[in-house]
Amino acid sequence: MKNGVMLQAFEWNTEGGGTFYRRIGEKAARLAEAGITALWLPPAFKGQTSLDVGYGTYDLYDLGEFNQKEETRTKYGTKQEYLDCIRILKDHGLEVYADVVLNHKAGADGKELFKVVEVNPMNRSEEIRGPFDIEGWTKFTFPGRGTRYSDFQWNFNHFSGVDYDDLAKRNGIFKILGDNKDWSKDVSGEMGNFDYLMFADVNTEHPDVRDELKRWSDWYIAETGVDGFRMDAVKHISADFMRDFVNYVKSRQGDQFYFVGEYWKTDDSETDRYLYQTDYDIDIFDVKLHFHLMEASQRGADYDLRRIFDNTVVQEHPGLAVTFVDNHDSQPGQSLESWVGEWFKPLAYALILLRKDGYPCVFAGDYWGINGDPNRPGFQAEIEKLIRIRRHFVFGDQEERFDDPNLIGWIHHGTEDNPGKLATLICTADEDRTMRIELGADWAGKKFADFSGNRDDKIILDENGGGDFPVSARSYSAWAEDGHPLQLRDE
Ligand code: CA
Repeated sequence: MKNGVMLQAFEWNTEGGGTFYRRIGEKAARLAEAGITALWLPPAFKGQTSLDVGYGTYDLYDLGEFNQKEETRTKYGTKQEYLDCIRILKDHGLEVYADVVLNHKAGADGKELFKVVEVNPMNRSEEIRGPFDIEGWTKFTFPGRGTRYSDFQWNFNHFSGVDYDDLAKRNGIFKILGDNKDWSKDVSGEMGNFDYLMFADVNTEHPDVRDELKRWSDWYIAETGVDGFRMDAVKHISADFMRDFVNYVKSRQGDQFYFVGEYWKTDDSETDRYLYQTDYDIDIFDVKLHFHLMEASQRGADYDLRRIFDNTVVQEHPGLAVTFVDNHDSQPGQSLESWVGEWFKPLAYALILLRKDGYPCVFAGDYWGINGDPNRPGFQAEIEKLIRIRRHFVFGDQEERFDDPNLIGWIHHGTEDNPGKLATLICTADEDRTMRIELGADWAGKKFADFSGNRDDKIILDENGGGDFPVSARSYSAWAEDGHPLQLRDE
């Protein structure tokens, strides 16, 4: 979507109790007005408990409809509330992406006896014990749902590994044995082979599993009307399966059906390979850029801003990158904690929202704040200001001025339909700085103002349309022609 902006509508501590869908529905008009164009909603399936954030998925067909795991609703509400929420969002012109967890299943209904080999947790391609029998939690019969929507029941043949032996009451990583069974080969090579992440690892090599997951996608999309899938933990799922799954869904829904994968890796040769393996049909989150933003926030003036986009997904594959600052896993206390420092957040959002490349994703924890953390109240007004600037000015050629380790800038030259010019400056120096910018003689005598509101001064361009544009220490500025209706609206 042209200059679209995605919102990850939840964070790890998002209030539970089944109120989420209602609250998001009530915000739909406000979000559309703010320039958000799509929402990524949390996993809607019944998890192992009704407190589950959604990644401990139990039943892909229970969206808060069946009395399973002690409750009908999920953390976020009932299925009807989910469907109502999606309808309201779509009525306001917003797209909706579902969070889809296919790597594993949790909270099995029963255990089974089967043969395994135990592998080295640090190198899963190294077998350290066995074969021997264990009892694992792999039987999923969904007693609360029965055969409604699908009569598929899961057993150990449909999984490739578990991490608990109920016979010996022992933790470990146990690879399940069977005909032609092994870890998927085309997963991340981290830990020797990173097919196994957690819970009962779904064996996507099994033809019945592949068929069932495809059938499920038809059901889910027909039932909910979502516009896309955010695929969880794809580094742990066979790339060939993902390519096949994406092809299948697009063949049924059309090419516009949106996919973004969570491939949590900063090694650009590995992410390059993944994009190739999945036929460039799926966007991925720009994890490398996230870590560059974090590092810049930690090192301040010692960080070389000229390198901030080096080897990132958005630089290497501009049309396939979802740029983001933080998410529910990187927030404080979570499994992939790598939080971008608060002082740098506005600069980080300028670095994703005021660029022509990448599909920026705003994080609920940065927008509304982290629930229960008064030190992290969020940057809603700042982010909305940046989105307004994006929608009016981020058009046409983007001229880069990455000359100084503590001061970078870029200029948008506009188009016929959006003729304004915008000069964005990012400064990590400990003192105010200026950048000399020439916009051409046509712009001689024009007055420029900082639409970020960070600078009150105005610049009158000289006879060449040039000026020394200021930016404050550890801050950003977004300079455009003074008196634009967008600016008047802000005042
Ligand atoms: Ca896996």
